[in-house]
Amino acid sequence: MKKHPKLKNPEACRTCAACCKQFPFYDHNDDGLVDRIKLLKTDKIIVEESDFATQDGKRLFRIVLDITCSALKFKNGKYYCKLYGKKSRPRMCSEYPYEITDWERKHCKGLKPRKA
Ligand code: SF4
Ligand code: SF4
Repeated sequence: MKKHPKLKNPEACRTCAACCKQFPFYDHNDDGLVDRIKLLKTDKIIVEESDFATQDGKRLFRIVLDITCSALKFKNGKYYCKLYGKKSRPRMCSEYPYEITDWERKHCKGLKPRKA
């Protein structure tokens, strides 16, 4: 498994897959994207104010797509990505987590070192 600068325990991904089951992203609603998303009739998208702000102080909304990625597979008690090592795997997946926000602090098991 490739070494990641922020993941202290990349092996945790095998039993976690939180970032493949939910997709959180952040927006400051300058162009009304958040307002538009709130109008969608679905319980698969969660919109909330985050504690996170841009460098110029704009409060960010967290939008969480509560939808599992179609490339996520589960076999013999472990998760794996069907696209791992392929060009078609989104770059953001290999670089994730690139920011540590409150979502990652809550869900990402790999941020904590492996217990001995
Ligand atoms: S949330 Fe963190 S530990 Fe879980 S699969 Fe994603 S990168 Fe790995
Ligand atoms: S492409 Fe792979 S790593 Fe990326 S979200 Fe889907 S299952 Fe997870």
